[in-house]
Amino acid sequence: MKRGYVMECREIDIYGYEEMHDHLSTLSTQYPILHVESIGSSVLGRPIQVVQMGVGERKIHINAAFHANEWITTPLLMQFIEDCLHCNTTGEQLYGYDVQALLAEAELWLVPMVNPDGVELVVRGRETISDKQLREAVFNWNEQSDDYTGWKANIRGVDLNDQFPAFWEVECERRTVSGPSSRDYGGNAPLTEPEAKAIAAFTQKEEFDVVIALHTQGKEIYWNYRDLECPHAEAYANRLAQVSGYAAIKLTGSDAGYKDWFIQETGRPGFTIELGEGVNPLPISDMQDIYPNMARLLLEAISRSEPQVG
Ligand SMILES: [Zn+2]
Repeated sequence: MKRGYVMECREIDIYGYEEMHDHLSTLSTQYPILHVESIGSSVLGRPIQVVQMGVGERKIHINAAFHANEWITTPLLMQFIEDCLHCNTTGEQLYGYDVQALLAEAELWLVPMVNPDGVELVVRGRETISDKQLREAVFNWNEQSDDYTGWKANIRGVDLNDQFPAFWEVECERRTVSGPSSRDYGGNAPLTEPEAKAIAAFTQKEEFDVVIALHTQGKEIYWNYRDLECPHAEAYANRLAQVSGYAAIKLTGSDAGYKDWFIQETGRPGFTIELGEGVNPLPISDMQDIYPNMARLLLEAISRSEPQVG
């Protein structure tokens, strides 16, 4: 298997928005079946890019880097995209899965970086913010520290995965964070932030059969929400657990997340996957360990959503 751009980046230890943007340009030149467009813009005006490939009927959405300091999910998903494109061209299998067949049965819509401004803050620091007032505010919201390794939020200090209208008020009370912060502040109302708004509108428009949000860390698969999930969600999650070695977890006491909202609105399968193990941000050198399990999990998720008959 060819290992391209992402692995080169491991040596410089950085994979931010610019790297993803360049990587996508290279891939779309190399592989005409890849379509790259934008679903909206971040607070600082960075296009939130979506990649589309496959021609099948089942529509599947996978996103990464909702949380800024979980940015390793971006190069992991980009590597997956690159490997799928490569195998689709050559006919090679990927971890035993027939990628050509999968892309004939499914249409994939992948957003490798939901929170570009937050990721850039974590990997490059606040000096890249041109607005002086915002640059100062970010420093203050981060308790006057320039160590952004704990920063999960978008650039306005709102946690994008606490922004969805699924018992949002309950989550706000639980979090007890009343203003912009590096993490856990859900905003003053649901869907106030352009990144969350863009993902919500895109999800409603495309009517996905399955959605998967990639986070770190814990090697866990969250699959339920307030008993609103479909009857086969647990079996589906168990299958993903089996191929990845991750644990399928029935979660309670958590609201306002993207997958919560998706399950509540549609009743279709929605997953949060906690990749890897350790302290966020996981070092990019962890990619090698995480990648094979993540790839198997995603390939299995893409391969079918219905329970096996017989
Ligand atoms: Zn997360």
